[in-house]
Amino acid sequence: MGLKELVLLRLAKRWISGVDLASAAADAKNANARGLGAIINFLGEEIEDPATADSHAGEYLRLQQALSDGGIRGAPSVKLTQLGLLISRADAARRLEGLLSNAERLNQWAWMDMESSQFTAQTLSVYTEALERHRNLGVALQAYLRRSESDLGGLLDKGAKVRLVKGAYREDHGLVFPSRSEVRASFTRLMGMLFERGDGFAIGTHDPVLIEGARKLAESKHANFEFEMLKGIRDDVKDELVSSGYRVSEYLPYGDQWYAYSKRRMTEHPSNIWLLLRSLV
Ligand SMILES: Cc1cc2nc3c(=O)[nH]c(=O)nc-3n(C[C@H](O)[C@H](O)[C@H](O)COP(=O)(O)OP(=O)(O)OC[C@H]3O[C@@H](n4cnc5c(N)ncnc54)[C@H](O)[C@@H]3O)c2cc1C
Repeated sequence: MGLKELVLLRLAKRWISGVDLASAAADAKNANARGLGAIINFLGEEIEDPATADSHAGEYLRLQQALSDGGIRGAPSVKLTQLGLLISRADAARRLEGLLSNAERLNQWAWMDMESSQFTAQTLSVYTEALERHRNLGVALQAYLRRSESDLGGLLDKGAKVRLVKGAYREDHGLVFPSRSEVRASFTRLMGMLFERGDGFAIGTHDPVLIEGARKLAESKHANFEFEMLKGIRDDVKDELVSSGYRVSEYLPYGDQWYAYSKRRMTEHPSNIWLLLRSLV
C-alpha cells in the first residue's frame, strides 16, 4: 500500500473497522464492551465472476466462525450482488443458503443489505424464499423508494424481519421521494407499520427526529426491536440509547474495498471532508 493510500485508510477508519477480518472482530468486541451489538459487512458489491463470489461467501463463513469463537454478539450483513446475483440468481441464493445454515448451526442471526433499485425485487424474492427455511434472517428496506410501503405490507404478512433505512443509492427521480422531508415522512409511515405489526425489526437511522419518533412508539407499543447505526456516526446517541435501556447495534464494514464505502459516507455529509482534512494537520 502506498503512502497516499495509507493516509486515506487512516482517515477512513472513522467509518470502517480495517481491511481484514481480525480488525472487524476486534471492533465488534469493542462494540460489545460498550453495550452494542455488531453487524458486520465485508465490503464489496456487484461481483462479476463466480470465483470472487465464492471467495466472498467463504469470507462470511470465516467471519461467522470468528464471531462464535470470540463469543461476540454480532451478525454478518451481506449484499446479494457480492454473492453473485449479477451472474446467477440461483447461485447467489445457494451461497446465501450456506451462510444461513452456518448461522443456524452457530445460533447466530444474519442480515441482508439492500442495494440499488435494480436489485430490490430480486433481493426481496430471494429473502422471502430463504425466510421459509431460516427464521434467523432480516432484510433492509429503503424508505426513499416509493414501492417500499407496499413491499413492507407483503413482508410483514410473511413475518419478515426488516431493518428500515432511508436509502443510500442515487436513483431515478420517479422511483424515489424527491425531498428529505418526504423521505422522512415515508420513514415515519413505515416505522409506524413496523411498530404495529413487526417483530424483531431494526430502526437504522441517525436522524434525531426519527429516533425520537421511534422512542415515542416504543413507549406505547412495547415492540421487539433495536436501533442500528453506522460506525463513526453519532456515538453519543448510541451510548445514550444504551443507557436508556434500548438495544443498539453498530454496523461495522471492513475489507479492502473501503475507499468506495468511505466516499459514500463522506459525500452524504460533506462536512465530513473538513473534519477529515482537519484531522490530517
Ligand atoms: C445500520 C445501517 C444499515 C444500513 N444499511 C443500508 C442498506 O442496506 N442499504 C442502503 O441503501 N442504505 C443503508 N444504510 C444507509 C442509509 O440508507 C442512510 O444512507 C444513512 O443511514 C444516512 O441516513 P440517516 O437516516 O442517518 O439520515 P440523514 O438525514 O442522512 O442523517 C441524520 C443525521 O445523522 C448524522 N449523519 C448521518 N450520516 C452521516 C455521515 N455520513 N457523517 C456524519 N454524520 C452523519 C448527521 O447528524 C445527520 O444530520 C444503512 C444505515 C444504517 C444506520
